[in-house]
Amino acid sequence: MEQKSEKRKKPRGKARLIEGKCIACGARCQISCPVDAIEMNEKEEPVIDIEKCIGCRKCIKVCPADALEIFFTPEEKKLLEDIEASDEPDVETDEEENEDKTRLKTDIKKWNGVWVFVEQVQGKAHEVSWELLGVGRTLANDLGVELAAFVLGDSVKPLAHEAFCYGADKVYLIDHPTLKFYRTISYLKGTVDLINKFKPEIVLMGATGLGRDLAGAVATELKTGLTADCTGLTIDTRMRLLEQTRPAFGGNIMATILTETKRPQMASVRPHVMPKPEYNSGLKGELIEEPFALSEEDIPTRVLEIISTVSESAVNIAGAKILVSGGRGMLSRDNFKMLDELAEIIGGVVTGSRCAVDEGWIDHVRQVGQTGKTVRPKLYIACAISGAIQHLVGMQDSDYIIAINKDKTAPIFEVAHLGIVGDVFEIIPSLIEKLRQAGVKAVE
Ligand SMILES: Cc1cc2nc3c(=O)[nH]c(=O)nc-3n(C[C@H](O)[C@H](O)[C@H](O)COP(=O)(O)OP(=O)(O)OC[C@H]3O[C@@H](n4cnc5c(N)ncnc54)[C@H](O)[C@@H]3O)c2cc1C
Repeated sequence: MEQKSEKRKKPRGKARLIEGKCIACGARCQISCPVDAIEMNEKEEPVIDIEKCIGCRKCIKVCPADALEIFFTPEEKKLLEDIEASDEPDVETDEEENEDKTRLKTDIKKWNGVWVFVEQVQGKAHEVSWELLGVGRTLANDLGVELAAFVLGDSVKPLAHEAFCYGADKVYLIDHPTLKFYRTISYLKGTVDLINKFKPEIVLMGATGLGRDLAGAVATELKTGLTADCTGLTIDTRMRLLEQTRPAFGGNIMATILTETKRPQMASVRPHVMPKPEYNSGLKGELIEEPFALSEEDIPTRVLEIISTVSESAVNIAGAKILVSGGRGMLSRDNFKMLDELAEIIGGVVTGSRCAVDEGWIDHVRQVGQTGKTVRPKLYIACAISGAIQHLVGMQDSDYIIAINKDKTAPIFEVAHLGIVGDVFEIIPSLIEKLRQAGVKAVE
């Protein structure tokens, strides 16, 4: 009697580097690997751990230089030839792939909760931290998980209480003398220690100078994805993924980015992009204090002194309640004087588009938009600004927008609450005159 042969497992091979072809593109293969089988050497070429490689071919697909290939041992080659010759169905490979996917899902399930980094300088929290707790609350509710804040610093325990009042269920705190001033090494270690121990699925940070430095370092250390300068954060509840939206390709499209196979999912958001939640002094939460093993000798940098500069750079356009903003249509630096005058009467600050900055009419610190500041004033008056997407992303969340433009099709009118089609050189002087006649004065 003929015996039925057992189904044989089709070998998948292992990835390997083809000598001399790698162009050090920036570790795309490493990022794509779902099982962390790739490390980069000092030449930024991949070194593949054969034990870990599952032959999934993801690295091969993303390599822009065709520098990777699949190889089989002589025994595997023979087996492959035999299976192909015998016309056996490819069931085993599918099963193996499913196993890998399941393993990946199980790993991801170990990560839970939404975390917000509370950025502080000398014990004072940056407002962006509380804004992030606002959006963090929505994300945590959508996922049905806890919202936590984490605070690093020296004598910063009172910030934990503040975080509860802005809605955190839990606060993780590392209070240590080496964290008195921000230094990448000490803050990186503190953050990575916390994340590795408690495994949050989402980590949010402010896209400030400090936040940008720390977020990039943490994502690199944890080999996870980071989407910088997000303008929108939502949850795909079916897949439990963070949808990270930000302008891309010079601001011409809005891209929604997912971190599908790595944890935590990391995103940074600029100040004033998200609304700040209400402060509720009655809210309480759980404080978790973590020890920290780092000494000054482990940190090569020393902070000798903090010198604050008082100059044009001290202008805080992001915090101003009224902004009078000018664009290329203002034609000259001299013409900005009428915007200064208007701003003075109504207690506003003068800002502008990138064109106004490029022309040298206003300082860069006053630029609104993608490469300038994001603002959210009570009133934004856009004078002779067309409303390019790179400008809109920086101001479209203002409470009330008045746009003055002589072109009725200008995109700024799409976000304006009040649109005036006309010539700024007629409208602004007449507005100033009317305000003066009415005795309007700026309220401090
Ligand atoms: C990567 C990248 C980043 C960028 N970042 C920024 C950014 O942060 N901020 C930013 O603003 N831009 C940014 N830009 C530039 C942006 O694309 C636009 O070029 C810029 O915003 C246009 O500035 P504007 O509206 O002043 O000038 P224009 O687009 O030239 O518009 C001038 C407007 O003035 C109107 N006008 C002219 N004369 C009068 C008048 N007498 N009365 C009334 N209206 C008049 C015109 O109808 C026109 O609509 C960026 C671009 C790129 C590629």
